[in-house]
Amino acid sequence: MTYNEQEFLQLSGLQHFSFCRRQWALIHIEQQWQENLRTVEGRLLHGRAHDEQQRERGGDVLILRGLSVFSGQLGLSGKCDVVEFHLSQEGIPLQGEEGLWLPFPVEYKRGEPKKDDADRLQLCAQAICLEEMLCCKIAQGALFYGEIKRRVPVAFDAALRDEVVRLSDEMYALYRRGHTPKARPTKGCNACSLKELCLPGLAKHRSAATYLTRYIQEDEP
Ligand code: SF4
Repeated sequence: MTYNEQEFLQLSGLQHFSFCRRQWALIHIEQQWQENLRTVEGRLLHGRAHDEQQRERGGDVLILRGLSVFSGQLGLSGKCDVVEFHLSQEGIPLQGEEGLWLPFPVEYKRGEPKKDDADRLQLCAQAICLEEMLCCKIAQGALFYGEIKRRVPVAFDAALRDEVVRLSDEMYALYRRGHTPKARPTKGCNACSLKELCLPGLAKHRSAATYLTRYIQEDEP
């Protein structure tokens, strides 16, 4: 399927979507956003990485920051923190540069590597965008984690690519329906920036009235 440019969704939403469909819908359908320490820290880290229009050259590596990318296949658009172009016979020509250059996306994240695939999926979506825009094949990239201060390599294998396509299609289906899924509290809710808005505690009870009644009773001496 090819999506219309007018309806492209935010590429960065893919990580929210894979973490929690409801969180994604609150942010991208209902336009809710609540800052917490994690989102502020994440933005500061991205601010440094997204130093737009910068182009650096270090030996056989050319570095571009804040590069805008999109994909009609995924229907997503966004920005890459950093795209390195490595001098390689398997690369592509770049305007103003001699030789062939192989793109290598690098995404900056606060914290440490996660157990789930959210970060890998976002990076892989960036790679698919770059492949579509530059007519090339990108086999790998890397995630840089602020807490461990090093890169973790990511291979863009068939399984990861299929999951990116499947999730972006599902994201579109929800977006077109304008549907926000119900809260399904998990351990991940503790780290969720929308915890207070989402009120996962309410989902454990039958209704808001039941929740408030219990809350008042528990508060009584
Ligand atoms: S609090 Fe939990 S259920 Fe609600 S949006 Fe966040 S992760 Fe999803």
